[in-house]
Amino acid sequence: MSRPVRPLLATVITLAVLAATAGCSSSTTTTAASPAPASSSQAPLPVPSESTSSSATASATPSATATASPSPRPTDDTTVVAGTFNKTLLSITDPASSWVVVDKLRPLNPINYAPSDLVTVPVAHANPPRLRKRASDALVAMFAAAKASGGGAMQIQSGYRSYSTQVSVYSGWVNSLGKKQADIQSARPGYSEHQTGLAVDISALPANCSLAACFGATPQGKWLAANAWKYGFLLRYPKDKTAITGFTYEPWHFRYIGVALSTEMHKENIRTLEEFFGLKAAPSYAN
Ligand SMILES: [Zn+2]
Repeated sequence: MSRPVRPLLATVITLAVLAATAGCSSSTTTTAASPAPASSSQAPLPVPSESTSSSATASATPSATATASPSPRPTDDTTVVAGTFNKTLLSITDPASSWVVVDKLRPLNPINYAPSDLVTVPVAHANPPRLRKRASDALVAMFAAAKASGGGAMQIQSGYRSYSTQVSVYSGWVNSLGKKQADIQSARPGYSEHQTGLAVDISALPANCSLAACFGATPQGKWLAANAWKYGFLLRYPKDKTAITGFTYEPWHFRYIGVALSTEMHKENIRTLEEFFGLKAAPSYAN
């Protein structure tokens, strides 16, 4: 179901929606920023190549498996060997990596990063959603499994959101409320997981408790909380982890991290990326 809206109206709706979803994307920002969904980025800013960002961050995150070879690390985990888990196989800093950790202390680098492999996700949606190819494929499989196993019908509320979109959303809040309140209502540009193309907001179909805490009590919310890991997704902002993630409970926000990592986290019963990788808690921005 698509609802074309004029940019001005979309912005108004965006602000209204964001008021209820501080850490998350609005369901209309994609429409506002990209009236013609395409597989290329709509960000007008320079888009670094994945190999450039890989090599730029390789020295910042030395790998235990690194050799004298300067070859960039892989950005997905398809090379993970069954039965072993190497926490340094993928970068947690390279924005193209499935394991990139983005929080209030870890902005994307470069801050205007845009993925190079966005696709339109072929599932039900409130607005035409885009995700990176690997996340899209996993989500299609997850929705099909949910429907087949009693999890109910689902739709995407929103997926990728560009840096430039977030700049306009965030600056709108700063102008109307001031910076302090804006930081409560909206993620700063460059600090949103949605900019990675690996994060998705999911709601029930028909809509029920969309982008609200009560989604966690719906059949869809319960199924996702129990099963998303099997498809490589992580419930990124659990109820009791706000002091670590910096975001209140968002049972609708799922982050693609790949099946190897999601399985390992499930096995170890570790629920946040910060805890799994031994990173600092990120309850708020550094300044
Ligand atoms: Zn979200």
